[in-house]
Amino acid sequence: MTQNHKDVFWRGIAESGCDSVSAISHRERILVLVGASGNRKQLVEHLKQRYQVIFPDEPGYAEGMLRDNPAGTSFDLAIVDLAGALRWHRRLAEARSHAQPVFLPAMLITSRKDLPRAMQTCDTLIDEFLLTPIEPNELTQRVAMLLRARRQALTQSTRLAYLTSHDQGSGLPNKTLFLDRLSQAIQDATVLGRKVFALTIHISLASVLKSLGNRALEEAGLVCCERLKAILGDNYSLARLATEEWALMLRAGASTKDVLEVFRSVQQLTATPLDIRGERVHISPNVGIAVYPDDAANASSLLDCAGAALARTERVQHPMFYSSTVQRQALAQIRTEAGLHEALAFDQFELWFQPKVNLKNRSLSSVEALIRWRLPSGDLVPPNNFIPLAEHNGLITCIDRWVLNKACESMQLWQTQGGPAQVAVNISAQHLVQDDFLTTIEQTLSHYDVPPTALELELTETALADLGQESLDKLWALRKKGVSIALDDFGTGYCSLNYIHKLPITTLKIDKCFIDNIVTDSADTAVTQTIVSLAKNFRLKLVAEGIETEEQCERLVRLQVETGQGYLFARPMPFVELQQWIGIADKLSPRDTKTPVISRERRTGCT
Ligand code: C2E
Ligand code: MG
Ligand code: MG
Repeated sequence: MTQNHKDVFWRGIAESGCDSVSAISHRERILVLVGASGNRKQLVEHLKQRYQVIFPDEPGYAEGMLRDNPAGTSFDLAIVDLAGALRWHRRLAEARSHAQPVFLPAMLITSRKDLPRAMQTCDTLIDEFLLTPIEPNELTQRVAMLLRARRQALTQSTRLAYLTSHDQGSGLPNKTLFLDRLSQAIQDATVLGRKVFALTIHISLASVLKSLGNRALEEAGLVCCERLKAILGDNYSLARLATEEWALMLRAGASTKDVLEVFRSVQQLTATPLDIRGERVHISPNVGIAVYPDDAANASSLLDCAGAALARTERVQHPMFYSSTVQRQALAQIRTEAGLHEALAFDQFELWFQPKVNLKNRSLSSVEALIRWRLPSGDLVPPNNFIPLAEHNGLITCIDRWVLNKACESMQLWQTQGGPAQVAVNISAQHLVQDDFLTTIEQTLSHYDVPPTALELELTETALADLGQESLDKLWALRKKGVSIALDDFGTGYCSLNYIHKLPITTLKIDKCFIDNIVTDSADTAVTQTIVSLAKNFRLKLVAEGIETEEQCERLVRLQVETGQGYLFARPMPFVELQQWIGIADKLSPRDTKTPVISRERRTGCT
């Protein structure tokens, strides 16, 4: 049997469990290698009532002898006469050896006269013989007997394969089967150029062993198996490597983020102690992770790497990656995520504002609210370092709501003090699709007594493109009430131009990447020019983002862009500084371009 065939057979059995019936799920097939002129007709008439009768006559059949059924062959019993045995000797011998370790019987039909010669020729190929003329009852019994023997062999083999591939207590796949599946996943990932993650989990049950003994340890191990199965479902090829150790894999296409999600699921085990013989046993899983192809080139080395990483996890509450680089990245991500929860709970967010100005006279038009995260150390974290993570773990909606409240609170103050006439708030798609999005906006506006016209919502092109009609309707409703809707980072998200007029937007924000080279790159000038005419045609307001130099500003004025935002005028700054800036800005002449206030952001260099 070739290694490949063996694998397929073995895997098939391992997957199908130890049910003997599943081993022969088809109607048993009898291959008749008897010449057409001999006893064939009589044989077939008799056999076809109970069995499927097949012949080697069709072209290409000889190859087919070696496939199809669970034992890797296309038949369960061969009946040969002397001529057939001589002709098919090699193929039949191959099929029988291919079926090993399962018995694949062959029966010889011969006349008494030919028996010695036949036995001499094909002794090793034959398990039983029947003398002609065929006596139907005898035929039936001999065939049934041979097939029964085959069925038993197949059942035993299936059972054996199951036993050698599964953990006895839990029924979970064991290391051998896990490695086989991991190899398969690695092969698939190699073709696709993707990664495969192997995870090993260790749950120390030493306290159970010490206090309650070996049988209690077994029990505790099984409870852990059940808990892991319940948490992980069938998605990760969970396997049991030892009493206190498990393995699982994330196949091609998975990312570090997915691995961390699995880790978090596994950590749920700590929430509920085990109940072992009336004792509450607290458990705390440790997880080691290795990545193909970065850490190892084959399944067993990959599992070894995950095991080596696991060995380093003693008393740490985070997953341990084999590679130190991935480990650093994952740790940073975990800490940021834990920190985000704290930031919300302990009010560590700050809302900063960046003016948008009239490009001709540099007067203040409105402001954009931009979030900052002030760590307890005093350092400032820019939004690009935590917004994507918040989007991934769903915290973004809470963050967006916090910003909305803070921005409206500020707007309420400005209304009485003569501040900006409008504040723009960035809204994530996840927030927008919430059922209560519309009411949240309306209630926040009315709570702070801010008119809808004083609020602008900025959505990126990508977020808008993915919205369903229901979400678009919410935006239309807000727009009708007077809320402005801006398409942020316009030009970077391949938004179809003939789609734009169907969106409920009032403003286009030309992305900074076009402004960067607007002075030197004629293509960027042309794009900006196109966006200007597009905005004119659809009666949309236009804002240029990221203006840093006088030359860029002049070029934009020439292109008739009215409003701009950028470091040239002001960086994002806290509320109090903005108040000062507004006071100074009133006194600035249009050509006095120095940034009036050096913001804390600039000093910490966090943007
Ligand atoms: P955005 O909405 O496109 O905001 C503009 C970004 O460009 C801001 O970065 C701003 O500081 C920066 N910027 C403005 N003028 C210049 C300039 O002249 N030069 C340079 N180099 N940069 C300039 P920031 O504040 O780091 O925000 C980055 C992104 O984070 C924002 O892009 C927005 O997508 C997201 N974000 C910020 N605050 C929030 C928020 O409260 N909620 C949500 N969902 N996203 C937010
Ligand atoms: Mg924005
Ligand atoms: Mg933008």
